[in-house]
Amino acid sequence: MGGPASPQLKGAPAGPGLVVSADWAVPAALDEPQRQWGVRVAGGMIDDCGPAGELRARYPDDDLCDGSGCVLLPGFVNAHVHLYGVLAHGVPAPAQPVADFWGFLDDYWWPLVENALDQEMISAAAAWVTAELATGGTTSFFDILEAPNALPDALFAEREAVAASGLRGVLSFEATERMGAANGQAGLDENARFIEACRASGPSGAGNRVSGAMCIHTTFTCSEPFIRRAFETAAELDVFCHAHVNEGVHEGRWCTEHHGMRTLEFYERIGVASPRFQASQCVQMSPREIEIIAATGVRVSHMPLSNCEVGGGIAPVLEMLQRNVTVGLGSDGYLNDMFAVMRGAFLLHRAATLDPGAISAATVLHMATEGSARTLGLDRVGRLEPGWHADLQLVDIGGPKGLPTPVEAHNLLDQLVLWRNASHVSRVMVGGDWIVDGGVVVGADMDRLRARTLEQAARLWS
Ligand SMILES: [Zn+2]
Repeated sequence: MGGPASPQLKGAPAGPGLVVSADWAVPAALDEPQRQWGVRVAGGMIDDCGPAGELRARYPDDDLCDGSGCVLLPGFVNAHVHLYGVLAHGVPAPAQPVADFWGFLDDYWWPLVENALDQEMISAAAAWVTAELATGGTTSFFDILEAPNALPDALFAEREAVAASGLRGVLSFEATERMGAANGQAGLDENARFIEACRASGPSGAGNRVSGAMCIHTTFTCSEPFIRRAFETAAELDVFCHAHVNEGVHEGRWCTEHHGMRTLEFYERIGVASPRFQASQCVQMSPREIEIIAATGVRVSHMPLSNCEVGGGIAPVLEMLQRNVTVGLGSDGYLNDMFAVMRGAFLLHRAATLDPGAISAATVLHMATEGSARTLGLDRVGRLEPGWHADLQLVDIGGPKGLPTPVEAHNLLDQLVLWRNASHVSRVMVGGDWIVDGGVVVGADMDRLRARTLEQAARLWS
């Protein structure tokens, strides 16, 4: 298809309302798909939904976006990304091969990537990756920035690029004491100042969809008083606090050696295992650690592809879902196409359990939308329902890029998760504003963004 006709572009004043309809819709990942269905968007929110013909009849004066040949679904929420990570794609490997995850960090990732980042690099990467996220149907994301030599104001440099993208971005600085106590405190202070500055800039809306969160690295780079301080500040500011947890075997062993217990047992002992804790990775988990997560309401983000890349293992996501843990899906800044991330989760857990029924397309789509939104505390994001934010995407299933087999209610989610990718996303809307139109980011000069990113990557590598 040539892309649905739509009159409303980024920053354009909204008319009375806009009806967006499509051949198929997935209003919520775990609910039944709908044929010839649509939503009405007004004031940045969804205010009505239903069969497309009925909506058009009910709102004859509204503008119309006719998504024939498309599926309408909620925008993806990438629960864990490192925008700066793009600068390290293809970076020369260390002279000596790294022995394990600790070696990966200490000999390679920290000295050659994170410690070398400056604000110009951070800004260029943020501009490029937010455009990349948008074209792939992502409407919200959580970023974790670790750049100890770019303090203070590293997040403020990133914010400008993220705000320009129109995406809903939760940004955090990954505070750590690995470069000393003062640098660690500067990281916590950066988050606190940033959270307050975002709030002070007024209500969330077009041009102001950026917010902050508290964030620390891990137990092996942060002391107990430091971790307590981070969670106390998060409570004072009423935000969640993120940490990477057991990304490989290293942290569990380190905690056992230094604290006499495993990572989640330690977090529980110091009183911070709670719904305020957003724990990413959670790959190498003991049964007791999974129990703690389920019992205390810790929220989890799952990164199937980057876990493979770093040789971390396979996270016990099915066990956590069975225990009603809130689980979201993220790219970790590795492959930022959320279709690829969903496919990774879909395939990995089937292979790991020797069970082709272990995880469904609906479950992975739920994690990539509403599940991720819940891990980030994003209110009314991840479903297409009246009263929820108008964050949505139209994905081509017909026309020149269409699917070669019929789409039915019973196979729609499999068709999306297995045989679609970022290049099939036709339009993306955040808060009622189209940010992608005909597969192209509205108002972005991609050649210029790419050139700037290449230049900054070359500086980093040198
Ligand atoms: Zn990460």
